[in-house]
Amino acid sequence: MITPEIKERLAKAIKGEKHISFLVGAGLSAESGIPTFRDKDGYWMPGSPNYTPQQMATWRMFCQQPLVIWNWYLNRFHICYQAKPNAGHFAIKDLQDLFPERFALITQNVDGLHFQTGMNSKQIYSIHGDLRFMRCAAACHKDLIPLPNQLKNRGLQEKLTKEEIMLLQCSDCSGFYRPHVLWFDEIYNEEYYKIHTVKYTAINTDLLFIIGTSGATNLPNQVFQLALRNNTTVIDINPNSSLFTAEILYSPNGYWIKEKSGEALPLIVEEMRKLKTEIV
Ligand SMILES: [Zn+2]
Repeated sequence: MITPEIKERLAKAIKGEKHISFLVGAGLSAESGIPTFRDKDGYWMPGSPNYTPQQMATWRMFCQQPLVIWNWYLNRFHICYQAKPNAGHFAIKDLQDLFPERFALITQNVDGLHFQTGMNSKQIYSIHGDLRFMRCAAACHKDLIPLPNQLKNRGLQEKLTKEEIMLLQCSDCSGFYRPHVLWFDEIYNEEYYKIHTVKYTAINTDLLFIIGTSGATNLPNQVFQLALRNNTTVIDINPNSSLFTAEILYSPNGYWIKEKSGEALPLIVEEMRKLKTEIV
Protein backbone atom coordinates (compact mmCIF):
# COMPACT_ATOMS: atom_id res chain seq x y z
CA MET A 1 0.00 0.00 0.00
CA ILE A 2 1.68 3.31 0.97
CA THR A 3 5.29 2.13 1.29
CA PRO A 4 7.96 4.37 2.90
CA GLU A 5 9.30 5.02 -0.60
CA ILE A 6 5.91 6.20 -1.87
CA LYS A 7 5.52 8.34 1.25
CA GLU A 8 8.86 9.97 0.48
CA ARG A 9 7.69 10.67 -3.08
CA LEU A 10 4.43 12.20 -1.85
CA ALA A 11 6.39 14.50 0.51
CA LYS A 12 8.72 15.51 -2.32
CA ALA A 13 5.77 16.39 -4.53
CA ILE A 14 4.13 18.44 -1.79
CA LYS A 15 7.31 20.53 -1.58
CA GLY A 16 7.25 21.09 -5.37
CA GLU A 17 5.56 23.85 -7.32
CA LYS A 18 4.28 22.06 -10.40
CA HIS A 19 0.90 20.38 -10.84
CA ILE A 20 -0.43 17.48 -8.81
CA SER A 21 -2.41 15.72 -11.54
CA PHE A 22 -4.75 12.83 -12.19
CA LEU A 23 -5.22 10.80 -15.34
CA VAL A 24 -8.49 8.97 -14.90
CA GLY A 25 -10.26 6.24 -16.88
CA ALA A 26 -13.34 4.04 -16.73
CA GLY A 27 -12.03 1.93 -13.82
CA LEU A 28 -12.88 4.79 -11.45
CA SER A 29 -16.53 4.89 -12.50
CA ALA A 30 -16.81 1.08 -12.54
CA GLU A 31 -17.13 1.36 -8.75
CA SER A 32 -20.22 3.54 -9.38
CA GLY A 33 -21.78 0.72 -11.39
CA ILE A 34 -20.81 1.98 -14.85
CA PRO A 35 -19.26 -0.94 -16.77
CA THR A 36 -15.91 -0.21 -18.37
CA PHE A 37 -15.55 0.17 -22.08
CA ARG A 38 -13.91 -3.18 -22.65
CA ASP A 39 -15.99 -5.30 -20.28
CA LYS A 40 -17.84 -8.00 -22.12
CA ASP A 41 -21.02 -6.70 -20.44
CA GLY A 42 -19.93 -3.08 -21.01
CA TYR A 43 -22.52 -0.49 -21.86
CA TRP A 44 -21.07 -0.22 -25.33
CA MET A 45 -21.99 -3.81 -26.01
CA PRO A 46 -23.70 -4.82 -28.15
CA GLY A 47 -23.44 -2.01 -30.68
CA SER A 48 -26.53 -3.00 -32.61
CA PRO A 49 -27.60 -6.20 -34.35
CA ASN A 50 -25.54 -5.15 -37.36
CA TYR A 51 -22.72 -2.94 -36.13
CA THR A 52 -20.01 -2.92 -33.48
CA PRO A 53 -19.77 0.01 -31.03
CA GLN A 54 -16.61 1.11 -32.85
CA GLN A 55 -18.71 1.46 -36.00
CA MET A 56 -21.67 3.07 -34.22
CA ALA A 57 -19.71 5.75 -32.32
CA THR A 58 -18.49 7.53 -35.42
CA TRP A 59 -19.17 10.79 -37.22
CA ARG A 60 -19.71 8.78 -40.36
CA MET A 61 -22.56 6.75 -38.87
CA PHE A 62 -24.09 9.85 -37.27
CA CYS A 63 -24.20 11.56 -40.69
CA GLN A 64 -25.99 8.53 -42.15
CA GLN A 65 -28.45 7.88 -39.31
CA PRO A 66 -28.54 10.67 -36.71
CA LEU A 67 -31.71 9.46 -34.98
CA VAL A 68 -30.51 5.85 -34.72
CA ILE A 69 -27.24 7.02 -33.22
CA TRP A 70 -28.95 9.39 -30.77
CA ASN A 71 -31.32 6.65 -29.62
CA TRP A 72 -28.39 4.26 -29.24
CA TYR A 73 -26.51 6.84 -27.14
CA LEU A 74 -29.47 7.69 -24.95
CA ASN A 75 -30.11 3.98 -24.33
CA ARG A 76 -26.46 3.09 -23.76
CA PHE A 77 -25.88 5.97 -21.40
CA HIS A 78 -29.04 6.18 -19.38
CA ILE A 79 -27.12 4.23 -16.71
CA CYS A 80 -24.59 7.09 -16.51
CA TYR A 81 -27.31 9.64 -15.89
CA GLN A 82 -28.56 7.67 -12.87
CA ALA A 83 -25.11 6.95 -11.38
CA LYS A 84 -23.57 8.65 -8.34
CA PRO A 85 -19.91 9.44 -7.63
CA ASN A 86 -18.05 6.99 -5.37
CA ALA A 87 -15.33 7.28 -2.69
CA GLY A 88 -12.64 7.58 -5.39
CA HIS A 89 -14.36 10.59 -6.99
CA PHE A 90 -14.71 12.26 -3.62
CA ALA A 91 -11.06 11.56 -2.72
CA ILE A 92 -10.02 13.33 -5.94
CA LYS A 93 -12.15 16.30 -4.93
CA ASP A 94 -10.51 16.27 -1.47
CA LEU A 95 -7.09 16.43 -3.11
CA GLN A 96 -8.20 19.39 -5.21
CA ASP A 97 -9.29 21.11 -1.99
CA LEU A 98 -5.85 20.36 -0.45
CA PHE A 99 -3.94 21.78 -3.45
CA PRO A 100 -6.34 24.23 -5.10
CA GLU A 101 -3.59 26.09 -6.98
CA ARG A 102 -1.73 23.06 -8.29
CA PHE A 103 -4.45 20.53 -9.04
CA ALA A 104 -5.33 19.19 -12.52
CA LEU A 105 -7.67 16.36 -13.55
CA ILE A 106 -7.44 14.77 -16.99
CA THR A 107 -10.42 12.45 -17.36
CA GLN A 108 -11.40 10.04 -20.12
CA ASN A 109 -14.79 9.54 -18.50
CA VAL A 110 -17.78 11.12 -20.21
CA ASP A 111 -20.22 10.25 -17.39
CA GLY A 112 -19.98 13.63 -15.62
CA LEU A 113 -19.56 12.04 -12.17
CA HIS A 114 -16.61 14.29 -11.20
CA PHE A 115 -18.85 17.33 -11.58
CA GLN A 116 -21.39 15.90 -9.13
CA THR A 117 -18.81 16.09 -6.31
CA GLY A 118 -18.79 19.88 -6.38
CA MET A 119 -15.24 20.13 -7.73
CA ASN A 120 -13.88 23.31 -9.31
CA SER A 121 -14.65 22.41 -12.92
CA LYS A 122 -12.00 24.75 -14.40
CA GLN A 123 -9.33 22.21 -13.46
CA ILE A 124 -11.14 19.26 -15.09
CA TYR A 125 -10.19 18.38 -18.66
CA SER A 126 -12.74 16.01 -20.20
CA ILE A 127 -10.60 14.75 -23.08
CA HIS A 128 -13.25 12.43 -24.51
CA GLY A 129 -16.16 14.83 -24.04
CA ASP A 130 -19.04 14.96 -21.60
CA LEU A 131 -22.41 13.23 -21.96
CA ARG A 132 -24.19 15.95 -20.07
CA PHE A 133 -23.86 18.15 -23.16
CA MET A 134 -24.64 18.22 -26.86
CA ARG A 135 -23.55 20.66 -29.55
CA CYS A 136 -24.63 21.68 -33.06
CA ALA A 137 -23.46 18.97 -35.45
CA ALA A 138 -23.06 21.55 -38.21
CA ALA A 139 -21.09 23.78 -35.79
CA CYS A 140 -23.29 26.81 -36.64
CA HIS A 141 -22.16 27.90 -33.17
CA LYS A 142 -19.66 26.38 -30.74
CA ASP A 143 -21.71 26.41 -27.52
CA LEU A 144 -22.20 23.31 -25.41
CA ILE A 145 -25.92 22.81 -24.74
CA PRO A 146 -26.98 20.90 -21.60
CA LEU A 147 -28.81 17.71 -22.52
CA PRO A 148 -32.51 18.25 -21.66
CA ASN A 149 -33.67 16.38 -18.55
CA GLN A 150 -36.43 14.62 -20.51
CA LEU A 151 -33.71 12.85 -22.50
CA LYS A 152 -31.70 11.84 -19.44
CA ASN A 153 -34.69 10.35 -17.66
CA ARG A 154 -36.41 8.53 -20.53
CA GLY A 155 -34.98 5.05 -19.80
CA LEU A 156 -34.65 2.45 -22.53
CA GLN A 157 -36.76 3.22 -25.62
CA GLU A 158 -36.97 1.58 -29.01
CA LYS A 159 -37.38 4.85 -30.89
CA LEU A 160 -37.22 8.57 -30.32
CA THR A 161 -40.59 10.32 -30.05
CA LYS A 162 -41.44 13.41 -32.11
CA GLU A 163 -41.07 15.56 -29.01
CA GLU A 164 -37.64 14.07 -28.29
CA ILE A 165 -36.53 14.66 -31.87
CA MET A 166 -37.46 18.34 -31.53
CA LEU A 167 -35.27 18.60 -28.44
CA LEU A 168 -32.34 17.31 -30.50
CA GLN A 169 -32.62 20.06 -33.12
CA CYS A 170 -30.39 23.12 -33.02
CA SER A 171 -32.35 26.21 -32.01
CA ASP A 172 -30.29 28.31 -34.44
CA CYS A 173 -29.97 26.28 -37.66
CA SER A 174 -32.59 23.51 -37.08
CA GLY A 175 -29.99 20.85 -37.92
CA PHE A 176 -29.30 18.10 -35.39
CA TYR A 177 -27.32 18.44 -32.23
CA ARG A 178 -24.74 15.71 -31.66
CA PRO A 179 -23.51 14.20 -28.39
CA HIS A 180 -20.49 16.11 -27.05
CA VAL A 181 -18.14 13.12 -27.26
CA LEU A 182 -15.06 12.27 -29.28
CA TRP A 183 -15.90 9.63 -31.87
CA PHE A 184 -13.65 6.85 -33.16
CA ASP A 185 -13.15 8.54 -36.54
CA GLU A 186 -12.40 11.98 -35.05
CA ILE A 187 -9.22 13.54 -33.70
CA TYR A 188 -8.46 15.40 -30.48
CA ASN A 189 -8.49 19.20 -30.61
CA GLU A 190 -7.93 22.01 -28.14
CA GLU A 191 -11.32 23.61 -28.51
CA TYR A 192 -13.39 20.72 -27.20
CA TYR A 193 -10.92 18.19 -25.82
CA LYS A 194 -8.00 20.36 -24.59
CA ILE A 195 -5.22 18.39 -26.27
CA HIS A 196 -2.56 21.11 -25.92
CA THR A 197 -3.52 22.13 -22.39
CA VAL A 198 -3.38 18.51 -21.31
CA LYS A 199 0.06 17.86 -22.80
CA TYR A 200 1.39 21.07 -21.24
CA THR A 201 -0.06 19.93 -17.90
CA ALA A 202 1.64 16.54 -18.27
CA ILE A 203 5.13 18.03 -18.61
CA ASN A 204 4.48 20.44 -15.74
CA THR A 205 3.48 17.90 -13.12
CA ASP A 206 5.38 16.82 -9.99
CA LEU A 207 3.06 13.93 -9.20
CA LEU A 208 0.72 12.07 -11.56
CA PHE A 209 -1.88 9.59 -10.32
CA ILE A 210 -3.23 7.16 -12.89
CA ILE A 211 -6.60 5.75 -11.93
CA GLY A 212 -8.47 2.92 -13.64
CA THR A 213 -7.21 3.40 -17.17
CA SER A 214 -5.93 0.72 -19.50
CA GLY A 215 -3.61 2.98 -21.49
CA ALA A 216 -5.13 1.85 -24.77
CA THR A 217 -6.03 5.26 -26.18
CA ASN A 218 -3.72 7.79 -27.73
CA LEU A 219 -3.80 10.97 -25.64
CA PRO A 220 -3.80 9.26 -22.22
CA ASN A 221 -0.79 7.28 -23.36
CA GLN A 222 0.99 10.49 -24.39
CA VAL A 223 0.21 12.09 -21.02
CA PHE A 224 1.78 9.10 -19.29
CA GLN A 225 4.89 9.15 -21.51
CA LEU A 226 5.40 12.91 -21.21
CA ALA A 227 5.12 12.79 -17.43
CA LEU A 228 7.42 9.81 -16.99
CA ARG A 229 10.12 11.29 -19.23
CA ASN A 230 10.05 14.54 -17.26
CA ASN A 231 10.96 12.82 -14.01
CA THR A 232 7.43 13.05 -12.66
CA THR A 233 6.51 10.56 -9.97
CA VAL A 234 3.79 8.39 -11.50
CA ILE A 235 1.56 6.32 -9.21
CA ASP A 236 -0.79 3.89 -10.96
CA ILE A 237 -3.72 2.74 -8.82
CA ASN A 238 -5.32 -0.22 -10.53
CA PRO A 239 -6.28 -3.68 -9.26
CA ASN A 240 -5.41 -5.06 -12.72
CA SER A 241 -2.32 -4.74 -14.84
CA SER A 242 -2.53 -2.42 -17.86
CA LEU A 243 -0.46 -1.32 -20.83
CA PHE A 244 1.29 1.06 -18.39
CA THR A 245 2.34 -1.61 -15.91
CA ALA A 246 5.60 -2.80 -17.48
CA GLU A 247 6.95 0.73 -17.90
CA ILE A 248 5.78 1.75 -14.42
CA LEU A 249 7.65 -1.16 -12.87
CA TYR A 250 10.75 -0.52 -14.97
CA SER A 251 10.94 3.23 -14.29
CA PRO A 252 12.64 4.55 -11.12
CA ASN A 253 9.78 7.09 -10.92
CA GLY A 254 6.91 4.65 -11.35
CA TYR A 255 4.81 2.95 -8.63
CA TRP A 256 1.92 0.52 -8.93
CA ILE A 257 -0.63 0.28 -6.12
CA LYS A 258 -2.57 -2.84 -6.97
CA GLU A 259 -5.85 -1.85 -5.30
CA LYS A 260 -9.26 -0.38 -6.04
CA SER A 261 -9.18 3.41 -6.25
CA GLY A 262 -12.21 3.75 -3.96
CA GLU A 263 -10.16 2.06 -1.22
CA ALA A 264 -6.61 3.29 -1.89
CA LEU A 265 -7.24 6.93 -2.83
CA PRO A 266 -8.90 8.12 0.40
CA LEU A 267 -5.92 6.72 2.37
CA ILE A 268 -3.43 8.49 0.09
CA VAL A 269 -5.29 11.78 0.42
CA GLU A 270 -5.24 11.41 4.22
CA GLU A 271 -1.50 10.72 4.10
CA MET A 272 -0.95 13.81 1.94
CA ARG A 273 -3.05 15.91 4.28
CA LYS A 274 -0.81 14.85 7.21
CA LEU A 275 2.39 15.39 5.26
CA LYS A 276 1.27 18.82 4.12
CA THR A 277 0.68 19.90 7.73
CA GLU A 278 4.16 18.65 8.70
CA ILE A 279 5.88 20.30 5.74
CA VAL A 280 4.19 23.71 5.54
ZN1 LIG B 1 -26.83 24.79 -35.52
